Amino acid sequence: MYEVTVEDSFAAGHYLRNYKGKCENPHGHNYKVRVTLSGAELDKAGLLLDFKDLKEVMKHVIDRLDHQMLNDIEPFTQLNPSAENLARYVYDETNVRLKSVTSGRVSVKDVTIWETDTTTARYFE
Ligand SMILES: [Zn+2]
Repeated sequence: MYEVTVEDSFAAGHYLRNYKGKCENPHGHNYKVRVTLSGAELDKAGLLLDFKDLKEVMKHVIDRLDHQMLNDIEPFTQLNPSAENLARYVYDETNVRLKSVTSGRVSVKDVTIWETDTTTARYFE
């Protein structure tokens, strides 16, 4: 199998519902996002996926979240915008876009979200 990984970042506000602690009040984070793709076959150029194409896909997903209050955006109006749920959201959104771009040759392996420099959550299936 081959893997490629790209990192990006965004800034957003959030608060956690049904939670007692620092994150129950509105505040912001500079989130970092790492997306790793995997696939068994390379394209004719010898790439799993051009890094710039993955960056483009991630940009679409992240632009929706950047400089927003996450609790005001679907699905986080209901779903708590925890790092875990954000990781799954980025995983699902990126996967849908990727599968159509690569006709199913490449899929997302995992997504890691940094909420701070020392705290991460990861989603994979
Ligand atoms: Zn927080």
